[in-house]
Amino acid sequence: RAQSSSLSRSGLLSEVKTNIRTGPFSDHYSLIPGKELGRGKFAVVRKCVEKSTGREYAAKFMRKRRKGQDCRTEIIHEIAVLELAASCQRVVNLHEVYELPSEMVLVLEFAAGGEIFNQCVAERDEAFKEEDVKRLLRQILEGVSFLHKRDVVHLDLKPQNILLTSNDPLGDIKIVDFGLSRMVSNNQEIREIMGTPEYVAPEVLNYEPISTATDMWSIGVLAYVMLTGISPFLGDDKQETFLNISQINISYTEEELEQLDKAAIQFIKSLLIKEPEGRATAEECLKHQWLQTQEKNSVEEPAMQKSASTSVSEPASPEISSQQRTE
Ligand code: ADP
Ligand code: MG
Repeated sequence: RAQSSSLSRSGLLSEVKTNIRTGPFSDHYSLIPGKELGRGKFAVVRKCVEKSTGREYAAKFMRKRRKGQDCRTEIIHEIAVLELAASCQRVVNLHEVYELPSEMVLVLEFAAGGEIFNQCVAERDEAFKEEDVKRLLRQILEGVSFLHKRDVVHLDLKPQNILLTSNDPLGDIKIVDFGLSRMVSNNQEIREIMGTPEYVAPEVLNYEPISTATDMWSIGVLAYVMLTGISPFLGDDKQETFLNISQINISYTEEELEQLDKAAIQFIKSLLIKEPEGRATAEECLKHQWLQTQEKNSVEEPAMQKSASTSVSEPASPEISSQQRTE
């Protein structure tokens, strides 16, 4: 729990346990030339090798000044959240922190499989199968549940911030980028922190209070994108996207959704609900019927294999069929 850390009114943690190193980063790490793993507005992430161990890491270089503003407080908060989640397998591990004259460097566990974004936008034959999506979503929910239990909301859950330990074979997920994350507790209200337009919940657009349910909306969008490759609210411009979100203008009749278990759509619908109070929580999602079974009935089995030994008097198959409903 984060009780010992002091918490400012803005939902930012301000104390870290990590020893912030000030010596030259390059004494201890070699940057892999040309290996830029990603970049955001104010950060560049590069692959590096720790000289003493030969281990690979991802170094996130963050500028301390952005648009003339000192952002060290925000960076300290990001470090504190990573510390708070250190025991969670689904959140990227923080190895070390360096402070350079104009940058802070977060040395993170290297997620070799890259962003799930790549598979989300891939051709359908290279894209995730429904069984993959179920397993990865379960892992995402485990991570988010861990955070929500500790009053942390991520606020920027999207395919670019969900990484994989490996690509082929498909590994496990690691949640990254706590740059927009906040502590939420009952006696303070946090509003207007803007994530990425396509994944942002209606309450964010309406300047209404942000809560753990705000992340659950994004998980609904994430599930839709992982299953179909379609960003459900994306319009031609920001305005249109925001209008689609606030009107929950979404299609559940796309052909990409047709071949899926009906419970998948029910799962998404339990999250893409305008009122935050109406949305399923991470714990409820983990118990959702869609995420229970690993193999579906529709996975083709040689027809003879089963029926050969099944007599007519036997009770119905214990497998949960896709028609079965939870409510
Ligand atoms: P930003 O706040 O700029 O979005 P992120 O923490 O999301 O920064 O990192 C930007 C990108 O760098 C990610 O989307 C991902 O592609 C890559 N990246 C970040 N952390 C790692 C990591 N630990 N391993 C591999 N790639 C990473
Ligand atoms: Mg990011």
